[in-house]
Amino acid sequence: MTVELISVGTELLMGNIVNTNTQYLAEKCALLGLSLYYQSVVGDNRERLGETLRTALDRSDIVILTGGLGPTEDDLTKETCAEVLGMPLVEDKRTHERIENYLKSNNFAVITENNWKQALVPEGAIILDNDNGTAPGLVLEKEGKTAILLPGPPNEMIPIFRKQVYPYLNHRQPELIRSKMIKVCSLGESVIEDKLLDLIDAQTNPTIATYAKTGEVHIRVTARAESEEAAKKLLSPVVKEIKSRLGNYVYSTKEHETLEMVVVDLLKKYDLTVTTAESCTGGLIAGRLVNVPGASDVFHSGFVTYTNKAKRKFLDVSKSTLKQYGAVSEQTVREMAIGGVFATESDACIAVTGIAGPGGATDDKPVGLVYIATYMKDKVNVEEYHFQGSRAKIREQSVVKALDLLRRSILENYG
Ligand code: ATP
Repeated sequence: MTVELISVGTELLMGNIVNTNTQYLAEKCALLGLSLYYQSVVGDNRERLGETLRTALDRSDIVILTGGLGPTEDDLTKETCAEVLGMPLVEDKRTHERIENYLKSNNFAVITENNWKQALVPEGAIILDNDNGTAPGLVLEKEGKTAILLPGPPNEMIPIFRKQVYPYLNHRQPELIRSKMIKVCSLGESVIEDKLLDLIDAQTNPTIATYAKTGEVHIRVTARAESEEAAKKLLSPVVKEIKSRLGNYVYSTKEHETLEMVVVDLLKKYDLTVTTAESCTGGLIAGRLVNVPGASDVFHSGFVTYTNKAKRKFLDVSKSTLKQYGAVSEQTVREMAIGGVFATESDACIAVTGIAGPGGATDDKPVGLVYIATYMKDKVNVEEYHFQGSRAKIREQSVVKALDLLRRSILENYG
């Protein structure tokens, strides 16, 4: 079954507000297994809304509209839908009473005539009660096509959708869509595609899609099935196969789990404390770790040692190393990682030094050159990266790679 979204409102067209309703509804439609091929935004204009609605009803089974259900003159969604579907507007007594009660209980001193406009509904409509406002949602069914009208404010739209529209659509749509996310770090998208090529080529149900993120790649495996259990059966073997091909590079298969959550969990699991020793990332790694609730169990200290003097003073990087190899070098990052552990007596340290640009490059050290090191169990792991992009992008990539090196080092030494 196909579904299409229309957002109504000149504010949206002008970019004055962000269209969060569409994001919410698109995600829910995917969960319901509905095929969504088109989304449109139309201003508060009867002609253009009518035209958009006619096109949408022609090519899709269900059209969900949000916005334009208010009491004012420029709120035209209901009137336009009623006209396009040929359903005359009639007063709904129950809605009239609900509006009256809502306005009274919310201390509206004056109820104006145009408030009653919201009690008019297209004849035969299913009315969706709105507990947080005056405009009810509406379901209009005509000749196999359905228009679902919802108020624009998300605090009104979302509860109506969740409680009334979702079950309605779920009932009409026999299939559902479920997906599983596989999150990978430290392997490029093309390498991953190469490793999974035969699976990607053979895909029908489930499908496999890769998405490049900063320093990471996410792989979404999506199945269409008639039940939760059937979807699980389709997803499990494919997810298992992908995981086995990518090994330790997979850091999570949970939708909302971040890299730093995984790192903090691993540190907790092996009862370890960590110190950060950062130069070009300027505290961003520490910030990401502290984002995770409960990080205080494992995060010992964070150094931001930007100057050579600071590297020497706080991390005991030797003067000769800095002089001979420079601050951005494998030797320096090693000493930073070791120094971080000795300065704090923590179990591990993650250290980063690099050239984030735009200045600071030399002939043999270009912008984007970053060294990352971990030190734990008397062992140093160093990696050298050549990142591209802006200063912010280089720093962001450094953080991701550093967190991932820490994750892989813990697995290597304690796993
Ligand atoms: P009301 O009954 O409050 O007038 P309405 O159904 O007429 O609601 P609009 O007037 O179109 O809705 O929009 C009211 C407000 O709802 C907007 O100012 C905006 O804050 C929010 N809103 C509308 N559409 C969206 C959207 N697509 N995404 C996020 N917010 C939205």
